[in-house]
Amino acid sequence: MINCEYDECNNNDFNIDDDTDCSTSDNDSSEAESEEVCLHEYTNVSTKYYCTDLLNYLRAADISKSHSTHLITLIKSILPTPNHLPATMDDLLLFMNIDNLFSRRSICLICKGNLEYKQRKCLNCKCCDEKSIADIYDINLKDVFTKLVKRLTPIIEEYKQKIYNNIDEQETKDIPFGYLYGELLKEYSSENILSLILHLDGVGLTRSSK
Ligand SMILES: [Zn+2]
Ligand SMILES: [Zn+2]
Repeated sequence: MINCEYDECNNNDFNIDDDTDCSTSDNDSSEAESEEVCLHEYTNVSTKYYCTDLLNYLRAADISKSHSTHLITLIKSILPTPNHLPATMDDLLLFMNIDNLFSRRSICLICKGNLEYKQRKCLNCKCCDEKSIADIYDINLKDVFTKLVKRLTPIIEEYKQKIYNNIDEQETKDIPFGYLYGELLKEYSSENILSLILHLDGVGLTRSSK
């Protein structure tokens, strides 16, 4: 099977550059156009230029999304209206053409309570053991898989041809070249079968045995 993880590391479009969001930047075809839009009518600072600066600052400051939105709201509240400053962190990311692929939260494994952003100690349990705190990354699976499959389609199609023709060039003896997978493909010959392997970190959120 195709190991998506490998491709991920080698694709510059996909940067994991931040604790709180994993983003892809699409090429902005209207870049030249939006460059000229000023933040408001009493300034010649471009909206794009200002938003780039603001986003860089918010990322470097390493604050939560809600605090970022609060700061954006504060700035927007003293700007003349109408103005082009996005109203929230989500709007800012949208304006910058950056997709929000996941968000992070932390929970205490003992009391299952949610922790504040960057809090590394549960105030309920008074426990400071790092191992009792889990970081959970919630992702929109449909969005992420759609983007992944779209981007990898040429590679997937090429590999599929090799699977159908049973050409195991590198003699990887990969699962799709095996007998059972072949039978599966025959049985569902009219369907577009995609297989994927998920790599997880192996940390359990609950204890299954004592
Ligand atoms: Zn706790
Ligand atoms: Zn402790």
